[in-house]
Amino acid sequence: MVMIGQQIIEMPGGQYQVTNKRLSHSVYSLTDSSDGGPEEESPALCLTPLQKLTTDMCKDEKTIKELIIGRRVGFYKVRGEIGCGTFSRVKLAFHALTKDKVALKILDRMRLDTQAQRLLSREISSMESLQHANVLRLYEVVETPSRLYLVLEYAGGGDLHNRIYCEGKLSDNTSKITFAQILSAVKYMHNINIIHRDLKAENVLFTSSGCVKVADFGFSTRVSQRNSTLDTFCGSPPYAAPELFHDESYVGPPVDVWAMGVLLFFMVTGTMPFRAETMGKLRRCIIEGSYTVPPWVPGPCQRLIKGILKTVPAERYAVDQMLGCDWLLPVEFPWSLVPAEPPSALQSLLESEQDSLEEQDAKEEEEVRSALEELGITAEHLQNNQLNNSRSPITGAYRIVLHRAQKREGCDCLPVVRGMVRDPKREGLRAYRGLRHTSKFCVLS
Ligand code: AMP
Repeated sequence: MVMIGQQIIEMPGGQYQVTNKRLSHSVYSLTDSSDGGPEEESPALCLTPLQKLTTDMCKDEKTIKELIIGRRVGFYKVRGEIGCGTFSRVKLAFHALTKDKVALKILDRMRLDTQAQRLLSREISSMESLQHANVLRLYEVVETPSRLYLVLEYAGGGDLHNRIYCEGKLSDNTSKITFAQILSAVKYMHNINIIHRDLKAENVLFTSSGCVKVADFGFSTRVSQRNSTLDTFCGSPPYAAPELFHDESYVGPPVDVWAMGVLLFFMVTGTMPFRAETMGKLRRCIIEGSYTVPPWVPGPCQRLIKGILKTVPAERYAVDQMLGCDWLLPVEFPWSLVPAEPPSALQSLLESEQDSLEEQDAKEEEEVRSALEELGITAEHLQNNQLNNSRSPITGAYRIVLHRAQKREGCDCLPVVRGMVRDPKREGLRAYRGLRHTSKFCVLS
């Protein structure tokens, strides 16, 4: 349905709340010409792109048909499939107004049991509170009676698992650049008490320019304090910390840190530290912490792996120790590694248009404002839609345009390694030929 001014118009394929007096002025006159005043003689001539789109969604046969058959979802034009998960399919899509490319994660409501629904709402709420260069953005959630669509930032460079599977282990410099970005994302999450609980190579995506995007927050949780205990086994067994196998509860951050140790080992060697034919044997390997770092792995990296993969959580490196390690010393970030107050910055960003614009510098503010105005999205729209509501197409357009401005300001720039000449030739193919890792969710006991 489209809500225009005080009028609600039934729409196929979803709910839209494009409330705005100015919008209601011309679109409403189109839906009910008897209401039009003398100044509305030829409203089609002065329609903004937003008005044109919402009008087409109500009146244009082709657009309505595309909405019905799923070629369009909300304000997005849907293209081919780009991936497939346990409960979802992922398709490429374009925003009809901004033309930006997005990834559309499609979930069939019928296939979502209570637990899957709970995981999904966690995914949404965690992603809504995260805004970091290395965390995949959630722009919007579109709901229809049969489906749920998560509109996500598009990461066109594939995932880390496939990359290592196809190209072999990463060079030392590429490992540094990749790991530093994952570390930056995890530090940021932990700062706002979000624990990912499913860090693995399959959930580390790349943009086409190689920027890391940590994805898949389905198993994430927000703790009241960083040392609060948790009791649900989440994640993929080869990445699971020992305490998940033998304790009835665990503290969140060290579990993410352990998974990062497994990830680092995988990046620099192309193999997994803990491998076994059965789950029982894998469990034993992990509990005993029995793994061998190949001798050719550079010493500083070996020391980092050993500091992370400590079986006793209290002895394991903390994120800050990882950041200060020798191996990462030559890494320079193009932005401050961790924004001063990331959570409050995001919260206020979403709380109101006024607050959010105050948080950005003047150039970015102006850029976002004028890009939205050009589309017909006014300050009034933003205010009426409360930008913390992911289920609004206005929020979707706003977040996309804001992110585009942030990217222009360099938020997706890669860190650099001081003194690095470009990557040497690929260092042999040590492809990890394992299966993709599936994640599990169960209560520990
Ligand atoms: P998921 O359901 O999140 O496990 O995603 C399934 C597959 O879709 C992933 O392995 C990726 O290949 C692809 N995919 C998921 N999210 C995105 C994204 N934001 N951009 C590009 N590809 C994605």
